[in-house]
Amino acid sequence: MKTDLFQMVKENVSPLQAAHFYGLRVNRNGMACCPFHNDRHPSMKLDAKNGGGFHCFGCQEGGDVITLVARLFGSSNYDAAKRIADDFGLSVPRENSFESEETEAQRLQRERLTHGIRKRELCKNLLAHLSDLRKVKYQTESEAMKAMEKNEAYSWVIGRLDQVEDYYDYLLDAPEADLKENIGEIERRLSESVREFDEIRGRSERAS
Ligand SMILES: [Zn+2]
Repeated sequence: MKTDLFQMVKENVSPLQAAHFYGLRVNRNGMACCPFHNDRHPSMKLDAKNGGGFHCFGCQEGGDVITLVARLFGSSNYDAAKRIADDFGLSVPRENSFESEETEAQRLQRERLTHGIRKRELCKNLLAHLSDLRKVKYQTESEAMKAMEKNEAYSWVIGRLDQVEDYYDYLLDAPEADLKENIGEIERRLSESVREFDEIRGRSERAS
């Protein structure tokens, strides 16, 4: 039975289709950023033909469409094959109900999408805040050298720049699972920093 199911899934769904369906972004050459190692540039090749495979040139992870989905969801090959069959509407070679798993697949996909949108938004906002910080650092630097202790904006910004740069580096480098846990905390710290920044900028504008 398992062999029939595996066979049927491999004959009907290519690794590329599955990658698209489960949220990997695949470029025109069939390459995607590998979800199994910290990959900034696409190193994973996904076959467009049924029965084909996938291979990561970075971490050497590879296999067929079933092992790809099993690794993505941390499930057994059998559960992955059932999931694909169900999600792609393939008729499974025996009576089986996948109702609860269908909901689970949809939930995971939605979660993945929402996380991606949050991540891009946070990335954009961090960059905007960083550029504000750098601008004030640049504008206040020479003046502040003379009276470093007295210039509140300068000393605040100097302390803050490193931290915000760290948040940004973390956003780019952190493993996805790690980031999912901490994204709320970074969002919170960013808005706190933006708020303090606005206050300090307001005070130093009034002072000058
Ligand atoms: Zn990899």
